[in-house]
Amino acid sequence: GATLGILGGGQLGQMFVLAARRMGYPVWVLDPDPDCPAAAVADQHLCAAYDDPAALQALADHCAAVTAEFENVPASAMHYLEKRIPVRPGAEALAIAQDRAREKSFFQELGLETAPFAVLRQMEDVTTAVQHTTEPLPFPAILKTTRFGYDGKGQREVATASELAAAWKSLNTPEAILESRIQLQQEFSIILARAVDGLMVFYPAAENIHHQGVLDLSIVPARVPEALQTQARHSAARIATALDYVGVLAVEFFVSAKGQLLVNEMAPRPHNSGHYSIDACVSSQFDQQVRALCGLPLADTRLISPVVMMNLLGDLWEAGEPDWQQLLQHPQIKLHLYGKKAARPGRKMGHVNALSPEAERALSVLETLRQDWHWPR
Ligand code: ATP
Ligand code: MG
Ligand code: MG
Repeated sequence: GATLGILGGGQLGQMFVLAARRMGYPVWVLDPDPDCPAAAVADQHLCAAYDDPAALQALADHCAAVTAEFENVPASAMHYLEKRIPVRPGAEALAIAQDRAREKSFFQELGLETAPFAVLRQMEDVTTAVQHTTEPLPFPAILKTTRFGYDGKGQREVATASELAAAWKSLNTPEAILESRIQLQQEFSIILARAVDGLMVFYPAAENIHHQGVLDLSIVPARVPEALQTQARHSAARIATALDYVGVLAVEFFVSAKGQLLVNEMAPRPHNSGHYSIDACVSSQFDQQVRALCGLPLADTRLISPVVMMNLLGDLWEAGEPDWQQLLQHPQIKLHLYGKKAARPGRKMGHVNALSPEAERALSVLETLRQDWHWPR
């Protein structure tokens, strides 16, 4: 096939490259990190900044189409590429997804419910924003930087309005949103793919369990009421349609203690909570990204087996390389290591998918593994 390009060579880029190459497409990767996970599997690694003119020109010259593994691509790079080759998803979707304030306002404009929030741009806003919203913002709340936050980074708990000033100062950001803390009953995500002709396919919802702001487990099928899953699919579809989106889109949802559905955020790409699809679906979210990028018909998203995905964080490497032999004693578990050189606490080093005819059994297999590894939660 034609050569494809991707901005970003982390684990998402790596899994995209593997899927594309399996399907016969060579891939060029642009990433400034010489040791990025995708470099080892790419046909060409352009080791340069994302707005490097020569690297962007090389991508435009050699690739039939380009995608991104993350939303923080500089707008200038997107504009340069969009003038020359198909870039999917497009600049607008990325611009919205890289800014929490724009993203949440966009959801609300579509009539979708989010947690109550206010935008803060300077210290004075801290007091005025809290008082002058149409309804007073309920505390406790979370202060989140509008840009560059992931895995719960760039967030501060704010129990009462009196703690706000200190939290604002410690974030040291030009802009943040102050968002009410919701009493969560459950969290889940919907991953869809939308083709050039507007057709959409949906992956089964993943029930997501976070630990200290980082995704820990994704359980599929999700133990979430069908009516809420249907409502969430409709919400995700509205978002994709409004953006005239092409590619894989993930949308995270909260279920409040009262059973109300709230949209949390979106990711304009394959998502950690969709890694289960690699082993448990007819086609993975990465196969699907290749298809959407190439303008091919979208593939079957059907679930072949119940599955639980567990992230392997750098914490697990604290006493050296984990005992993979212990893991391989469990034939239901499929191991995916990203080959990152340095293991830091909280860093995503790999994941496992446990497959079983019942998700509960898959969960207990992972629980056993966790005990073997002395990696409690
Ligand atoms: P990601 O790695 O998914 O991009 P992120 O850093 O963008 O994460 P969020 O998704 O906003 O951060 O928050 C991370 C997690 O923190 C959520 O999945 C949820 O568990 C918790 N959380 C975030 N906002 C709220 C809220 N308003 N009320 C309750 N819990 C929340
Ligand atoms: Mg996020
Ligand atoms: Mg999130």
